[in-house]
Amino acid sequence: MTVYDYLIISLRNKDLIASFNWDPLLVQAYNRMSKLTKDLPDLVFLHGNICAGFCIDCKSYGHIKNVCQICGKALSPTRLLYPIKNKDYEKDPFIAEQWRRVKKWVKDSTIVTFFGYSAPKTDAAAIELLKNIYNDGPLHRFDRIEIIDIKEKKLLENTWEDFINVEGAYNPIYLKSFYESILAEFPRRSIEGYSERYFNGWWGKGSNRILEKKQTIKEFHRQIKPILIKDQKDDFSL
Ligand SMILES: [Zn+2]
Repeated sequence: MTVYDYLIISLRNKDLIASFNWDPLLVQAYNRMSKLTKDLPDLVFLHGNICAGFCIDCKSYGHIKNVCQICGKALSPTRLLYPIKNKDYEKDPFIAEQWRRVKKWVKDSTIVTFFGYSAPKTDAAAIELLKNIYNDGPLHRFDRIEIIDIKEKKLLENTWEDFINVEGAYNPIYLKSFYESILAEFPRRSIEGYSERYFNGWWGKGSNRILEKKQTIKEFHRQIKPILIKDQKDDFSL
């Protein structure tokens, strides 16, 4: 199990992972975890990805080795965008589609986790995306924003100030590792754990926490299996 495997299996198909990485690590982890369950998060690649293929006619996408799920034609490779100052996300149809998806998802979300994202101040599109979360009136007042980064808190606050309007209740929580996050505490039940704790006044702790330890997929499967069985019965209790 790698931290990417844990990240993927900790989420369900109502969730979304948006990645800026071009490398295949996330897709490879997705393929490994899809042997445990098909109920996995959607993936979007905001700068393209070497494993992602796109059908321009149907606006559908998937692994480059697969065919379009709608028309059955071969998928084309996606463009890889380099981290430059003025990225034109609208120019490329695949990238534009990926940004549309993440904007929609973020608007409807309650828990947002930033994992290993350095939040460069030049990234205008990312700033826009985040403004979309926070400038939505009282709707997002109780959102949970977790920023996972090993940097010092002062430095992080400085980096993120352009992104996050720290007025009122929107203070993000800074964490040093994925294993401290709400996703690791409540794998596949983050929003359920969150609402129990913050809306129903529950004082308990997640009993299925993902721990930072070396283990094989088979070993981890034993831990997660009772949750996967409950998923199949639409039982999303903690
Ligand atoms: Zn197609």
